[in-house]
Amino acid sequence: MRIRFLSPTPAHLQQIFFDAASGWLPHANLKFELVTTGDAEIRITLNQNLHWSAVGTDILLAYHRQDLPTMGFDLTRLIDTQKLIKQQGRSFAMFDIRPFLAPDFERIVLHEFGHALGAEHEHQHPNANIPWNEQKVLKEYAASGHSEAFVRKNILDRYEAADFSYTEYDPESVMHYNVPQKLTVGDFRIDNTGKTLSARDKAFMSTIYGERPNSRGPLTLAIGGSAGTPN
Ligand SMILES: [Zn+2]
Repeated sequence: MRIRFLSPTPAHLQQIFFDAASGWLPHANLKFELVTTGDAEIRITLNQNLHWSAVGTDILLAYHRQDLPTMGFDLTRLIDTQKLIKQQGRSFAMFDIRPFLAPDFERIVLHEFGHALGAEHEHQHPNANIPWNEQKVLKEYAASGHSEAFVRKNILDRYEAADFSYTEYDPESVMHYNVPQKLTVGDFRIDNTGKTLSARDKAFMSTIYGERPNSRGPLTLAIGGSAGTPN
């Protein structure tokens, strides 16, 4: 799969994203290639409000136009910009940005690429049983401009078991959001900050993108498919 940044992005920053995304590769019969021109299956823009990706084969269907992104990252939440500005001035084109990456940078990149490879949200797994305090969740996300419909679609709603190919619920999955205690009833919380692929993430991807004698190419094997699932 070819990966191209649509936003002007320094080459070394592109490489940092590429390296993080490549964490999937030892567990899938897939190749990634970072390209600067021509067609690409995964097209990334940087923004200031949302990490998101189209899911699975949608990146070839609903998002077939090469000038449209299939994935976006909120750079302001991936890089400690305050520290950066203080120490280096505003331009990050000229030096190593790695010391300024957020602690969950790798996890977030793996999460969005997980969507691109067909994975859906683990916290919305049919068997997830998170005691969300719905009013608090809605209020928290409303403060950053997200509608109730958005929050229900990406966080609160659970998938119908019949609609998906799924394995056992895995609270450590890279596809699982952190669950802060303040957004739940009681003392329930999940914090996977800094963790990367779980054992089940690796097993799942190697099942989906395993070696097959009649393989028509990895993307044709992707599952999932709700149009344009953000975040
Ligand atoms: Zn997501």
